Amino acid sequence: MLELRRGCENCNKALPPDSLEARICPYQCTFCAICFDTVLDNVCPNCGGGFVPRPVRPSKNWKDDNFLGKDSASTIVRHRSVDPVAHAKFSAMIKLIPPEKR
Ligand SMILES: [Zn+2]
Ligand SMILES: [Zn+2]
Repeated sequence: MLELRRGCENCNKALPPDSLEARICPYQCTFCAICFDTVLDNVCPNCGGGFVPRPVRPSKNWKDDNFLGKDSASTIVRHRSVDPVAHAKFSAMIKLIPPEKR
């Protein structure tokens, strides 16, 4: 199941389950839209993968108990700031490789 991590790994901004600002990588590393736009360059600093907007888990039980009330958000706090200089080098290297071959 998708972890819904509670904040941006870089700036620690809160990203509650209904946030439309959360961006996740293939390993669910979670960042806010601002860090995604300004620092990350669509390259995850931890794995080199890209990002997609995190979908909002329904807060109401629309169907079969698949909702936030049963599957609550993660309590994991991951805050390790990205070094912008090191990340710029890393993302430049990754971006030389076509997305499907990374
Ligand atoms: Zn952020
Ligand atoms: Zn990642």
